[in-house]
Amino acid sequence: MLKKLTERVYYKPHFQKTDRPVIGVITGDDFSLVVDAGNSPAHASEFLESIRTESVSPLKFLAVTHWHWDHIFGIHTMDLVTLSHLDTKQRIDYLSTLQWDDDSLDLRVQTGEEIEFCRDMIKLEMPERNHLQFKSPELSFSDKMEVDLGNLTCVIEHVGGVHAQDSSIIYIPQEKVMFLGDCLAPDFYSGDWSYDRNELQLLLKKISKYEVDYYVTSHNEPETYQELWNYLNMLKGIGNIVGADVSILTVKDRYKKVENKIPNEEEITLMEYFINGNIKRGIKN
Ligand SMILES: [Zn+2]
Repeated sequence: MLKKLTERVYYKPHFQKTDRPVIGVITGDDFSLVVDAGNSPAHASEFLESIRTESVSPLKFLAVTHWHWDHIFGIHTMDLVTLSHLDTKQRIDYLSTLQWDDDSLDLRVQTGEEIEFCRDMIKLEMPERNHLQFKSPELSFSDKMEVDLGNLTCVIEHVGGVHAQDSSIIYIPQEKVMFLGDCLAPDFYSGDWSYDRNELQLLLKKISKYEVDYYVTSHNEPETYQELWNYLNMLKGIGNIVGADVSILTVKDRYKKVENKIPNEEEITLMEYFINGNIKRGIKN
């Protein structure tokens, strides 16, 4: 089932159990563009099946937000003209050279190339992976590109961030909708989950220049401008309170002084992410 977000934007909601991200559809007068390919051939097929009963223009393009498996394993099944950042293309081409059977996945977890969470989700989503096929994006960009779908333009812009340096957003000016992929998520590929205060500032600056009514993040329900920015302002605030510190006790103390209350569970977790980011950058007290 697809959900309608605005006149020209639809989406298939995320599914947490096997880490299926949102798949978006932006439909112009002539063509439609799909956002992200799903995390398996089955996920992409289900999407293609559900689009049949919708009154959208023919699917022509697929824009990939970043290289992580759950956004790209459905590219071959989608069989559309695929657009991505240059680095995303390179990573997809690399992934296509790897073996995806259980033993190979387990080995990559041991060597640190893969993380347990993704390994487990890949196994759950695709118990059988012998026929997993990859397809390299046909069109790549380094900064930004625009796609005309017929009286409807999509802007695809590279924004980066710690979650995946190749992350791009898809913005539809006419609808005031932005697909964010996972760009706001922490880095969970290199050791303890982390945020980098400076990189987050840069990222937020890039996305805040667009006028948006609805944000679509890949593993959540869509949010209004206010809902997302309430969270992001809180996140920024936590980053500022952590500063360059690496001690959770010091940070909690500072929070109490600044906010005049005790931090909640979520805030403490976010403090730890920023602290982990400081540790990764080698900042020592
Ligand atoms: Zn991701």
